[in-house]
Amino acid sequence: MDQNVQYDAVIVGAGFGGMGAAIALKRMGLTNLLILEREAALGGTWHVNRYPGLAVDIPSVSYSYSFEPNPNWSRLFAPGAELERYAGHVADKYDLRRHMRFGAVVEGASWDEDRQRWVVTVEGGEQVVAKYLLTATGFLSQPHLPDIPGIDSFAGTVVHTTAWDAALDLTGTRAAIIGTGATAVQLIPEVARRAAELTVYQRTPIYVVPKVDVPIPRPVRRLFARVPLVQRGARAVSGALLELLMVSAVLHFKQAKVLNKGAALASRVFLRTQVGDAGLRRKLTPDYDFGCKRPTFSNSYFRTFTKPHVHLETGTIARVEPDAVVTADGRRTEIDTLILATGFNLWDVNFPAIEVIGRDGRDLGKWWRDNRFQAYEGVAVPYFPNFLTLASPYSYSGLSYFTTIESQMAHMDRLFGELRRRGADVFEVTESANAEFLDRMTAKLDDSVFYGGSCQTARSYYFNQHGEAAILRPTSTANAFREARSFPLGDYEMRSFAGVE
Ligand code: NAP
Repeated sequence: MDQNVQYDAVIVGAGFGGMGAAIALKRMGLTNLLILEREAALGGTWHVNRYPGLAVDIPSVSYSYSFEPNPNWSRLFAPGAELERYAGHVADKYDLRRHMRFGAVVEGASWDEDRQRWVVTVEGGEQVVAKYLLTATGFLSQPHLPDIPGIDSFAGTVVHTTAWDAALDLTGTRAAIIGTGATAVQLIPEVARRAAELTVYQRTPIYVVPKVDVPIPRPVRRLFARVPLVQRGARAVSGALLELLMVSAVLHFKQAKVLNKGAALASRVFLRTQVGDAGLRRKLTPDYDFGCKRPTFSNSYFRTFTKPHVHLETGTIARVEPDAVVTADGRRTEIDTLILATGFNLWDVNFPAIEVIGRDGRDLGKWWRDNRFQAYEGVAVPYFPNFLTLASPYSYSGLSYFTTIESQMAHMDRLFGELRRRGADVFEVTESANAEFLDRMTAKLDDSVFYGGSCQTARSYYFNQHGEAAILRPTSTANAFREARSFPLGDYEMRSFAGVE
């Protein structure tokens, strides 16, 4: 075991967040990087998720790095495979592949106070040592497998949407899907196209609004390539619309209730145009406010339930038998394939996704669960020197993940720039700055639909086990960028390694 391997930084995760962090560090002259990725290739969620129908549900001009626009998106909302290709392009252009190690499952990391270093343990026992640790493990990286009695006894195929098998042929089969979240909204129409019978088990209905998705004609792509300003303009328009939906309708629910109610109405009107049967419509209509759960976009989801071979089941699942799903009222539905579109576990296992032990033996996961989930500006935690946690409470800003990534990159620019200016190597956010940020975010949430609206029946993963909606940063994205570029430098204690090496 070599304890002396030294890196400027170890980044956990080679998705868009991890690559953004690596690009930011390299810009600051920190070039000796190691990016550890548990999967076999880069791309993060776009490598893991391969289910039929997968596409980005944020316009692609916005769902990409602003400094690396891609003029070649085939559609307004690009299919998943294009995102994975884009990730490969970014890795090549910014020379990131040589830092990446795949199939490297990080078990944990601990701060060595004597050596002022992070010691990162990789599955198999190897330890690597680095000055800085950044976790970019995503929000939706730990699949939630439902604990339904008998599920292990099922004799057919059981597949979670994150483990889709390309060889799985559903043609002519009897399939069941559990879940009606954003993943299921994309998957259900595709499975319905292939399966002879499809039963969808819905516990909580979801808001769906039309997806204005069209192919991007070649001349437009050529224009984007030749005159990048045009694509930047398109990004600005799409960003403004996302901001209106997310920030105004959801985060400023109290002030802009009419927008929120308008979005809910738009979804109901859309449902009315798609489904004639009033009973079916009732089942598909949410009884909570718009935005309690992430809104979804689809032109084919609602209509799929009107097909004769597609059945919407709203009864509680009692158990799974070797050949069937049985609901609490005793009805058995015989199936060949059971598809789990059951989402992710965020609050028990993803925050953080690895064990992180800071100063004085503080265990980040335990501390978050025992206290409150919190991270200064969504990136830093007291007692965790030289550590940035990028998938954190109150870090998700806006609707496109790239807003979060780029505001965090801006935070890193300011933080590492100041360290360099002072000739310092160690940083740690102060307890008072962290507490002030948490208080401020908590107060702002009072305006949001999460606290001001009716979300009790939504079962939204935005809420944690303490009933706090602690994922989204309840500010405008402009505010997130402004603070990332101008946070008080005194919010961090900075010192040099003096005397340590
Ligand atoms: P999700 O929104 O958490 O939905 C999981 C679904 O499974 C819910 O309908 C849930 O019902 C149901 N479920 C879970 N356990 C169950 C059980 N034991 N019995 C019955 N039903 C159960 O997960 P997701 O659909 O994978 O989406 C997660 C997030 O991924 C989205 O919000 C979005 O941010 C992202 N996403 C993005 C894209 C994209 O950009 N292209 C596509 C897909 C997903 P309850 O609601 O009743 O708990």
